Amino acid sequence: MSDDTDVFQTLILGSGPAGWTAAIYAARANMKPLLLKGMQPGGQLTITTEVENYPGFPAGVMGPELMEKFEAQAIRFGTVVKPETGVKVDLSTRPFSVETNFDRVYRAHTLIISTGASANYLGLENETKLQGRGVSACATCDGFFFQDKDVCVVGGGDSACEEANFLTKYASKVRMLVRRDEFRASKIMQDRALANPKIEVIWNTHVVDVMDPEQGKVTGLVLENTKSGDRWETPTDGLFLAIGHTPNTQLFKGLLDMDDTGYLITKADATSTKIPGVFACGDCQDKIWRQAITAAGTGCMAALEAERFLEAHGHG
Ligand code: NDP
Repeated sequence: MSDDTDVFQTLILGSGPAGWTAAIYAARANMKPLLLKGMQPGGQLTITTEVENYPGFPAGVMGPELMEKFEAQAIRFGTVVKPETGVKVDLSTRPFSVETNFDRVYRAHTLIISTGASANYLGLENETKLQGRGVSACATCDGFFFQDKDVCVVGGGDSACEEANFLTKYASKVRMLVRRDEFRASKIMQDRALANPKIEVIWNTHVVDVMDPEQGKVTGLVLENTKSGDRWETPTDGLFLAIGHTPNTQLFKGLLDMDDTGYLITKADATSTKIPGVFACGDCQDKIWRQAITAAGTGCMAALEAERFLEAHGHG
């Protein structure tokens, strides 16, 4: 195992909007940050198509292209970028150390965690094949492409109700596929979904297959009644998953405070965690807004907080 003896001012884990924004700010503050790109370079935006709600792009921008622009901007100011993933961290002493999947160890006076979250999928083969071709886990990102179409939303939580309601702005009909005979969502969100004339709730139902990979787009679903086991096919143009997200925070279990679903807990109006010098931003810390622009915003906060921390501890 090699040991990199240079101590970085700040080490950023993750390369979504939060990580790159933290890098841009840290690099411009001469902190010479090291950014480890992580398992999914570019984060969740790299699995979406066109992003139309990121300010500054009036004609829209493709998700992967947007992340390339973030990266170029971070590199322009001197960010050191490695295509590595942190696999082990030692936060017990400063400088902190991060071991990577390349068997390297990096040390840094501050750590910015921007490891993101991953939308949960059903795990069906054709669902993966048709991602971005009618299968989506983000109605806010992709709803616009379903003008006057028929779509199905899987899930019965607040997200599913919210996404179903949102989709009725575009789609002609939205069917919610709920695996039990009741919602998990809060009463107000349930009532809103049930009162929407464009939404139909199909209870006790789950998806067992997505058609049709040969046509390169979603054309229908194979559904199953969870009680009777009856199966049937139904045509549809889109499948939206709203069955929760999993924050990518396994690395920090037992080291940092998290809520019961694994989101890192930071101080009020800040990105600082319970360990001085460790900051968390973006979707690994935010389970409410989960937008590229809000992730970028907290990435900026984390870099500014890290800069202040370094100054206060004589590393300015
Ligand atoms: P939840 O975990 O609350 O709900 C997930 C839903 O998906 C449940 O109905 C669950 O069914 C269903 N589900 C899970 N796995 C599968 C599967 N494999 N197949 C079919 N269905 C499945 O996640 P949410 O993302 O909805 O919400 C996360 C948190 O964010 C919650 O605390 C929520 O309150 C909050 N939130 C609040 C909002 C608001 O207030 N405006 C908006 C969005 C989220 P089952 O119930 O059977 O387990």
